Amino acid sequence: MDHDCSDTWGHLRTLPAEQRLVSLGDCTHGGVLRHWASAGNSEERSRVAFNPYTPADAVRQLAADPSAHVRMQVCFNPNAEPDVLAALLLDPSPEVQDAIRCAFDTEIGHVLRRGSRTAIYKGDDLD
Ligand SMILES: [Zn+2]
Repeated sequence: MDHDCSDTWGHLRTLPAEQRLVSLGDCTHGGVLRHWASAGNSEERSRVAFNPYTPADAVRQLAADPSAHVRMQVCFNPNAEPDVLAALLLDPSPEVQDAIRCAFDTEIGHVLRRGSRTAIYKGDDLD
């Protein structure tokens, strides 16, 4: 879905919640994503954590998120730096441990960590 992020992050605030989630998944604007990494609710932060355009510093912040669901998405983000991924290997949540194994040990995990999101939109494997 196209959206206009050229001015500020503010327009996303005016969207209905469901549309905002879609936009946060598709957004390619680092500054917008960095804002919602802090300001969003846990569902919104999950979308930001999974978005391959989220800058490394925001991904690092989301790796320490109180929500395990957010931390799980970080495992598949191509901007997660090696020390961030290493810390997630020791995450206390079994769900996050499963996610990091999936990210490194499965074909879809490798595809996602390279930044491709096409497989998801086609519905392959994760449908
Ligand atoms: Zn955007």
